[in-house]
Amino acid sequence: VIRDAIARDIAAIVGQGGVLQGPAARPYLTDATEAQGLVGRADAVCLPTSVDQVQAVLSWCYAHDVAVIPRGGGTGYAGGAVPLEGGVVVALGRLDGVDTFDPFEWRIRVKAGIVTRRLKHLVRSHGLWFPPDPGAAESSQIGGNIATNAGGPHAFKYGVTGKWVTGIEAIVPPGDRIEIGGPIRKDVAGYDLKSLLTGSEGTLAIITAAWLRLTPAPEAALPIVAFYPDEISGCAAIARVVATGLLPATLEYLDATTLAAAGATFPGGLPEDAAFLVVAEADGSLAAATALRDELQVTLSDDAVEVRAPAERAAIDALWNWREGVSIAVTTMRGGKLSEDIVVPVDQINAALTEIDALGRRYGLATCSWGHAGDGNIHATFMLSRDDRDELERVEQAARELLHFAVSAGGSISGEHGIGWVKRGELARQWPPRAIELHEQIKLLFDPKCLLNPGKKTT
Ligand SMILES: Cc1cc2nc3c(=O)[nH]c(=O)nc-3n(C[C@H](O)[C@H](O)[C@H](O)COP(=O)(O)OP(=O)(O)OC[C@H]3O[C@@H](n4cnc5c(N)ncnc54)[C@H](O)[C@@H]3O)c2cc1C
Repeated sequence: VIRDAIARDIAAIVGQGGVLQGPAARPYLTDATEAQGLVGRADAVCLPTSVDQVQAVLSWCYAHDVAVIPRGGGTGYAGGAVPLEGGVVVALGRLDGVDTFDPFEWRIRVKAGIVTRRLKHLVRSHGLWFPPDPGAAESSQIGGNIATNAGGPHAFKYGVTGKWVTGIEAIVPPGDRIEIGGPIRKDVAGYDLKSLLTGSEGTLAIITAAWLRLTPAPEAALPIVAFYPDEISGCAAIARVVATGLLPATLEYLDATTLAAAGATFPGGLPEDAAFLVVAEADGSLAAATALRDELQVTLSDDAVEVRAPAERAAIDALWNWREGVSIAVTTMRGGKLSEDIVVPVDQINAALTEIDALGRRYGLATCSWGHAGDGNIHATFMLSRDDRDELERVEQAARELLHFAVSAGGSISGEHGIGWVKRGELARQWPPRAIELHEQIKLLFDPKCLLNPGKKTT
């Protein structure tokens, strides 16, 4: 089958306007790994407008032995949505409707392409909340969040995306539509296929819609920001919060280099000798949030340079807007970066930060880190100048060593971004051989021709 013939046949399914070619297709060939030079090649990029069209595209591709690469907002950090060796990119962005919204039942059924921020705004206008909050909310889609089981700061108290998904509609090879779960809160009827598809990174199915659980928006969400003179005192503060059993909605940290990169715009300015920042948030009814905020303030005070508790709406919004911009501020330091998402037991965070510093020195790289401290989820970051091949190789080597460190510390090579392409082959370091075998067999059971997102999430 020649390339143009593929595009022509796909256009017969989704319409001429639903197939992108040339420069219009270019943004669909990369994701957030672009700074690492990862740019793919597709035979066709299509934007279906209905579930029937998604089903027909997958059926056509399966019948013609053509690879299919599901794509959400392209904000992933693992190269998961990048078409590596041709095939048809199925971009879900035009499938962004709301099927059913039952505010009084605290639930909603949405199509996979709805953008995270839009969903959050919609439910918020009814006093409800969808807690998962991966950083690129203005672009990432619910389908992509489910496919990566995305987290974000509020995962500490509220859990990752999968915890809020009660049903999934998906197209599985060779082109069958299945729906598992629904508007229900409990379901142990079969093997937990819903959870299996959650985090499957487009390698088992194309997710087309989902039932989501919602919760009433908390009356108050009060942040506490605590600055420390060094990593040791900051990590000790995190450990204290976890040990006390206090349950903030978020428990985040940023190291000294991250503060240097993003600190110029920190609301209210940074204290002079701040070299480590912890951000917690107390939520609930106003009374409960205030009481928890006060307790956290005391717990975080030991050895702190300064502790602040912004209370005005504008100041709180400014703080979280700043936090959202941290990743971009770090990127602009050198033009690029590789951000890992290892997880370690919370008592190993300090050791992980020491390891990141050591790797930076050993490989001659600028490093920094921030992350979801309460979950032990560390965005270890290696700065990159674009087009410096030698530096990129050193960064990749250092990142691989960091993954090995995470496993040896009893952690995981990925807490948020997934395996995708960039961590291919690394799972075998973390899992025993029989578990790896089962992983591979599950893939073949769903996708015997290995046409769904080939090369991704491999062991
Ligand atoms: C600035 C920034 C901050 C971020 N912060 C966080 C964070 O705090 N927490 C976190 O977890 N992640 C974070 N991320 C990573 C990313 O935003 C999340 O992984 C996000 O959920 C990916 O969604 P997406 O729609 O962009 O998916 P894409 O990047 O398009 O795809 C990701 C993977 O999912 C698959 N996929 C996408 N849609 C579907 C579908 N409908 N059906 C089947 N497979 C599909 C793709 O094939 C690919 O393997 C951040 C990214 C950026 C750029």
